[in-house]
Amino acid sequence: MRIGVDIDGVVADSYPYWLTELNLHFGKNITVIDDYEMHLAFDVSRDAMNDYFVCNAERLLMSPKPIIGAKEGIEALLREGHEVIYITARTLEERDVTMRWLTMCGIPHKHEHVLFAGFSSKLELVKQWGIEAFVEDYQVNAKLIAESGVPVFLLNASYNQVELPKGITRCHNWDQILEGIQAIDCKG
Ligand SMILES: [Mg+2]
Repeated sequence: MRIGVDIDGVVADSYPYWLTELNLHFGKNITVIDDYEMHLAFDVSRDAMNDYFVCNAERLLMSPKPIIGAKEGIEALLREGHEVIYITARTLEERDVTMRWLTMCGIPHKHEHVLFAGFSSKLELVKQWGIEAFVEDYQVNAKLIAESGVPVFLLNASYNQVELPKGITRCHNWDQILEGIQAIDCKG
């Protein structure tokens, strides 16, 4: 199968690092991100948050560790004959640092299979690329993709605690993601 995989919150454990850095920068003491739209959690404008990320992209995108089990999970998918296409909401300006981070962490990727949706829709890329299953952490993207008929595996996070519609399976780790993908692959 051709599997779409998000990066932040799925492969890169970005949020714990960002939380620490954002608390320092904005002088806050937020302990849990309960809203994916972090500017809301930090009570700053969307522009202020974007500016901070643009000016500090190198550090903010190179420092996070991989999500536990992600590297092994992706290796397992490739071994089982699946194709892995990364689809991130990061922008093209962040392409270079993203590639370096994937390489640094030893996470298998083909350059032409890392796609940057930026501020446009991930769903369009999912359709264009014929993605057959998707791994995501943001419930809004998960819903859009699931509604188009593509099964979604949502990696559990503090900011995605909502009731999930049909087509989205909540997973607590990469082992559960692999099990879910194997199950739909068998049904084929
Ligand atoms: Mg994400």
